[in-house]
Amino acid sequence: MIPKQYKATKTCVYCGKTYTASAPNQLYCTQECRSKAIAERQEQTRERQNKNARLLYLDKKMNARANRVDIKNKSIAKICQEANEHNMTYGQYIAWLEYGQKA
Ligand SMILES: [Zn+2]
Repeated sequence: MIPKQYKATKTCVYCGKTYTASAPNQLYCTQECRSKAIAERQEQTRERQNKNARLLYLDKKMNARANRVDIKNKSIAKICQEANEHNMTYGQYIAWLEYGQKA
């Protein structure tokens, strides 16, 4: 028995166009859509990795700052209250703690 050629009407997962698939596992209408979809996925992965690296960097920075100015065991509310007592904003107060009054 000769296998019938596979044919099915599908929707391209990239551009959304309806096309005739020649294989059951075909996802894209053209080779172009397939390459674009793959390139986009790689771009998203790269962005996600960049974001993670940035978050990790910020986290390290905040930890280093917390160690320097000894705010690790203080709540934000407590720091805000102290800042108020010094007539400063939270940011100003943290900078003042960190760098001294010259900041
Ligand atoms: Zn397509």
